[in-house]
Amino acid sequence: MILIHPPVAKPCEPPGGIGKLCGALSHHGMKYRVLDANLEGLLSLLKAPLASSDTWTSRALRHLSRHLASLKSRDAYRDEGRYRRAIKDLNRLLEMTARPSRVRLGLANYEHEDLSPARSKDLVRAAENPEDNPFFSYFRKRLMELLTNEQPSMIGFSLNYLSQALCTFAMIGFLRREWSGVKLVLGGGLVTSWMRRPHWHNPFNGLVDHLVAGPGETPLLSLMGVTPSTNIHYEPNYDALPIRDYLAPGLILPYGSSSGCYWNRCSFCPERAEGNPYIPIPVGEVIRDLLHLVDHQESALIHLLDNAISLSIMKAISEHPPGVPWYGFARMTRPLTDPDSCLALKRSGCVMLKLGLESGDQAVLDNLQKGVHLEEASSVLKNLKKAGIATYVYLLFGTPREGLIEARRTLEFVVKHHDCIGFLNLAIFNMPIYGPQARGMETKTFYEGDLSLYTSFDHPAGWSRQLIRQFLDKEFKRHPAISAILRRDPPVFTSNHAPFFTMEGRVG
Ligand code: SF4
Repeated sequence: MILIHPPVAKPCEPPGGIGKLCGALSHHGMKYRVLDANLEGLLSLLKAPLASSDTWTSRALRHLSRHLASLKSRDAYRDEGRYRRAIKDLNRLLEMTARPSRVRLGLANYEHEDLSPARSKDLVRAAENPEDNPFFSYFRKRLMELLTNEQPSMIGFSLNYLSQALCTFAMIGFLRREWSGVKLVLGGGLVTSWMRRPHWHNPFNGLVDHLVAGPGETPLLSLMGVTPSTNIHYEPNYDALPIRDYLAPGLILPYGSSSGCYWNRCSFCPERAEGNPYIPIPVGEVIRDLLHLVDHQESALIHLLDNAISLSIMKAISEHPPGVPWYGFARMTRPLTDPDSCLALKRSGCVMLKLGLESGDQAVLDNLQKGVHLEEASSVLKNLKKAGIATYVYLLFGTPREGLIEARRTLEFVVKHHDCIGFLNLAIFNMPIYGPQARGMETKTFYEGDLSLYTSFDHPAGWSRQLIRQFLDKEFKRHPAISAILRRDPPVFTSNHAPFFTMEGRVG
């Protein structure tokens, strides 16, 4: 069996989903290989000779080794200018290499001029013409080598982001043509979202043998003839991945203590719209896994992948620190409203928390069923600041209950708490196509594709995407307190690299 992480996704840490599959396969003594085609593919394109190049591109190529080395050491995170130059130059090289394929390529971006990852016929077209893909030279050679040496009976692709979809299908098309006997399995977060759409029908018959929705461990083992006992949990295993090659100053260890979300009530949330159940791993096993993982592999940072870290996990980590700095998503409520709990989290190694505030208007929050009160959110930010834990705050503009007045309240809230906010993420609301809010609204298809997960809608207060953009560009982002926060955001890698700047004392 070969497991593949396809391009393009941020190449800064091993893929968490594949780590879980490896854990399950190792537990049952199955033989497998893993190909991080994302990391390998991006590195191979960065080093590929360019047909023609301007001054910027030639300089970027000359500095390539230095840039890669600085992103893998602490140097770039101590010097923001150096970090930004490295990212800009790497993106420039990728952009220039992929231009002849009519693809806008970056370290976390793959956009084709004509083909959309949300249209099944475009994905089939990518599969029919793999040689048009900018990664073709890389994956043709690498897959042929691997298949010749390993003779696998099955190949699994883990497809999580739209930016991976066209490359995944190009690789699938190539394998179908060159190695027709091998079984192809496709799973991952994006595939789960497609398959959880009501009225789903499989448009990939003949290309893919098995599509898997949700956690892939049990279906994969069943396909390999193993019947796992129910409720078994597997510790992730990253041994088969190139853990020293990722663009980070040391290994980032991804770990999910749950799938779904314990809150599961926010009306705009895709997790809820897809009906993904909340499945936590028992707290004792989480602590045992974390301690074992950091003992087994020297790591720089733990990335908790949970949609929202539960109270019991925070308490357990505070009592049994993993011994390595960690960060993840938390809700702006208990236990963070308690200063002592925040101090205990800091002592346990917590360097940053990602927090979904969404809005600074209470009526908007209530309408979203966010379960967050602004007074609590305020004390959470202040407590974390005092404890020395950086915050990465997520805002969502354009939800159905919001208009300009409410958006200005968000601006006021952020300005009032600017010294407690390390980083900000601004997003414009996309309505999940089958979420509760889409019912009873005038909706239109957003990406005009049969696999679209979002729909556009006529905002009841006329607060259109165009007006929101104007507000963000001309008012929100221009406020000096806010623009100072936005300027700190690490380009491309955003929250994945932000903890390293925090650890270097650049933000806190
Ligand atoms: S807390 Fe986050 S993951 Fe949980 S329901 Fe709300 S938006 Fe979804």
